[in-house]
Amino acid sequence: MKYILVTGGVISGVGKGIISSSLGVLLKNNGYKVTAIKIDPYINIDAGIFSPYEHGEVYVLDDGGEVDLDLGNYERFLNVRLTRDNNITTGKIYQWVIERERRGDYLGKTVQTIPHLTDAIIEWIERVAKIPVDGSTETPDVCIIELGGTIGDIEGMAFLAAFERFQRPALRDSLMNVHVSLIMHPDATGEPKTKPMQNSVRHLRAAGLMPDLLVCRTTDQLQPHLREKIAAFGLVDLEQVIGVHDVSNIYKVPLLLESQGTLEAIQKRLHLSAPNEDMLRS
Ligand code: ADP
Repeated sequence: MKYILVTGGVISGVGKGIISSSLGVLLKNNGYKVTAIKIDPYINIDAGIFSPYEHGEVYVLDDGGEVDLDLGNYERFLNVRLTRDNNITTGKIYQWVIERERRGDYLGKTVQTIPHLTDAIIEWIERVAKIPVDGSTETPDVCIIELGGTIGDIEGMAFLAAFERFQRPALRDSLMNVHVSLIMHPDATGEPKTKPMQNSVRHLRAAGLMPDLLVCRTTDQLQPHLREKIAAFGLVDLEQVIGVHDVSNIYKVPLLLESQGTLEAIQKRLHLSAPNEDMLRS
């Protein structure tokens, strides 16, 4: 199983959900079986009793799970059916760990964020990622995991700590990070500013993760000189910088990603073998 962790920088609502879904479309169209998990680091168990004024509509899954709207995007973009377990919240993870603790599963040990909570996060992800979601009985090849919120949020720390373990040499090829960050363009300065993006990459590195692809959300198309500057300051190669500007229709985002070699970059980074021809035809 291969994982693509999508993180966000600078502001919430930067487009992580659309990028996650679009990465899934690219992979799916090229014959890979894709599933998705959304992590919402808030403490609520689910989105069921959220104020619609604050969070928009609650998305209801086939199994009755009341979840974030992003799961609706995944279902529509990828033509899959997800379950309530495809949405992890801090509340759900704590509830699970506390139930185990009350049963005595930890055999009297002090239950801690690392390793108990982080182990629970990885165990949950590994279990759910294997579940077929496209109506077939085949295990997905790739699981896209979107970490809600913004890098640096205190609520997201335990999740980042859990993903840090993929930096171990034996697991390095199993998980890649796609960091989606806003390039600001204040009217007053008249030019795009990359400093907030640089800071978010620094936060990411401090948390033990390195961006394998740096997706830059811009108002207008990313200009070559800006791409070079972002690569230099983000400490990535030019091909790792992907521009996604505001588009009139979000279903154009997979094409934007494809035109910049994103699929090839994923295949190379995760050592994804080409899917077999039968799958491509089906
Ligand atoms: P996040 O997951 O980071 O909170 P979303 O993916 O939900 O962000 O996107 C926030 C809003 O921005 C949504 O309404 C979405 O349709 C819109 N959006 C995302 N990417 C683009 C884009 N490239 N062009 C135009 N609108 C976009």
